[in-house]
Amino acid sequence: MADTPSELDIIQLRSNIHGEHVAEAHVCDYCGTEVKIGQPVQYDVIRVADLPNIERIFSPPSEWHPDAVRCQNCNIDKIDPATDGFDEALVMVHLNESNGILSIDASSMTVVDFSPNGDGYQPPMFSPVLMSQFEDLGLARWIRVKHLLEFDDGSGDVMPIIRKGVRKSKDIPPNVEF
Ligand SMILES: [Zn+2]
Repeated sequence: MADTPSELDIIQLRSNIHGEHVAEAHVCDYCGTEVKIGQPVQYDVIRVADLPNIERIFSPPSEWHPDAVRCQNCNIDKIDPATDGFDEALVMVHLNESNGILSIDASSMTVVDFSPNGDGYQPPMFSPVLMSQFEDLGLARWIRVKHLLEFDDGSGDVMPIIRKGVRKSKDIPPNVEF
């Protein structure tokens, strides 16, 4: 094997996300609650490692980047279910605000959990076209799809498409109900 899944390179992760603008991070991506600045904030951060279907259609960033922010109520300590094809990490960072622009301050970052590419379930079968429409790469992660399914109130027109994609998936985590 040429490349065994490496240990997390914390220095690289930190330098990739430090200073990254997160203009919409006032609100938790999982529940919509306001995220308070001035205390540690949990982020899902991801790096595309091996997603050929998606990489064929659009060019995702090859570095670590923030995928979702969590309010304190939505903090977790384990990435479950994890998704193969991504490096996924849960980190605690701070937010800086300057002229109304929020950015990540990773100088005192701590890593809560890490799931390397090679671990987890194959990504849900969403069409790459859908993915590029949303410009939200994180939609190909089971942990976000699981959440969307749990909070679906049946009113939107996007969830039926997502549900259909999940049904076609070959490797559905057992704790995902669809
Ligand atoms: Zn929340």
